[in-house]
Amino acid sequence: MMRTAMGKRNWRKAWLCAAVLAAVSVGAAAAGDSKPAPAGPGLRIYFVDVEGGQSTLFVTPQGHSLLVDTGWAGNNGRDADRIAAAAKDAGISRLDYVLLTHYHPDHAGGLVEVAQRLPIGTVIDHGENTEPAEASTVPMYAMYMGLVANGKVKRLTPKPGDRLPIAEMDATVVSSAGEVIERPLPEAGEPNPACQGADLKPIGQTENPRSLGIRIVFGKLRILDLGDLTVEKEALLMCPANKLGRVDIFVVSHHGTATSDSAALVHAIAPRVAIMDNGGRKGGSPSVWQTIESSPGLEDLWQLHTAEAEGSRNVADAYIANLSGPDAGNYLKIKAWPDGRFEVFNARTQATKQYPAR
Ligand SMILES: [Zn+2]
Repeated sequence: MMRTAMGKRNWRKAWLCAAVLAAVSVGAAAAGDSKPAPAGPGLRIYFVDVEGGQSTLFVTPQGHSLLVDTGWAGNNGRDADRIAAAAKDAGISRLDYVLLTHYHPDHAGGLVEVAQRLPIGTVIDHGENTEPAEASTVPMYAMYMGLVANGKVKRLTPKPGDRLPIAEMDATVVSSAGEVIERPLPEAGEPNPACQGADLKPIGQTENPRSLGIRIVFGKLRILDLGDLTVEKEALLMCPANKLGRVDIFVVSHHGTATSDSAALVHAIAPRVAIMDNGGRKGGSPSVWQTIESSPGLEDLWQLHTAEAEGSRNVADAYIANLSGPDAGNYLKIKAWPDGRFEVFNARTQATKQYPAR
C-alpha cells in the first residue's frame, strides 16, 4: 500500500508541511484572522498499553470518565498503575464508569487493582458469566461480584439499543450478551456491498461473541469499540445492511485477531483512523492488518506494539507506540473536538499528528 509504505522520509515531509501550516496559521492569527483557537481540552482517549489486552480511557472536556476494560491482573499492578497514570495525566481522581466488554482476564483482570487506585462509580457489563467452572472468566466474575457485594461499585447491565448515562458523550450499546441492535442507528442502514462473499461462520460460544460493544458520538465525531466481538456477530450488525454507519475512529476488535474484524465490518464503517491494541505476540494478525489497510478512506492505522509473530506486517515505526524490545508501556492518546478535528499523540515519539475535520 502506498500509504503504509510511507517511510521516514515522507513522515518527515508531512511534519515539515504541518510545521509550515502551523507557521502560516500563527502568521494569520497575528494579522488579526478570526481563526478559532483550540477549544479547550476536548475529549481525551488513552489507549493504555496492557501488553495484549484492552484498556481505553475516555475523559470528557469537563472530566467525566469512562474506562473500557482494565487490562490484566498481577505483574505488580502493572496495568492498574498505567491506567492510574493516564487518569492523572487527564486530571481525574475517580472513574465515573468502568465498562467490562466481557470477563476474559485481559479485559476484566485488572478491575480490583484499578479499584484500589481510583474510586469507581458504576461498572457496566453484559450480564451474568455463563462459562463453565474451569473457564478463566470465572475468577474474574467472582472478583467483580465481590466488589459489588461490598458496595464498592454500582452495577449496570444495559441491552443493545440502550444509551449509557455518561455526561458529554452519547454512547449507545450496539452489542451485548450475544445480541445486537435490531434496527440501524439513526443515520445508518445502507446496504453493505462488503457482505458479498464474506465468510462469517460462528466462532463458538465463548465470552468473545458476548462482548458489550458501544458506538460513541462526540459532536461530529463517531467512535466504535466492540471489545472482542467475533465475525458472526459483526455479520448481524453489518449484513445485509450496515446498522452502524461510518465512524471516524475504530478501536480494532480483539487486538486484531482474525476471528474478528471482517471486511464486512471494517470496510463498511470505513474509519479514518484505526487503533490496534495488539501485544508483541497477541493479535496483530496479517489478514486483519490487510483488511484494515485496504479499508476505503483509511488515513492511518496505529499499533500499540510492533507485531512480532512470523509473517506479521506493521505500519511505519512512527505509528507504533512500542517497538520490539523491553516492555516500555508507551500509550497512544487521542484528543478530539466536537467539530470533528482530532489528533493522535504517540507517547514513545512524543509526536502528534493532526486530523482536520472532514
Ligand atoms: Zn481480548
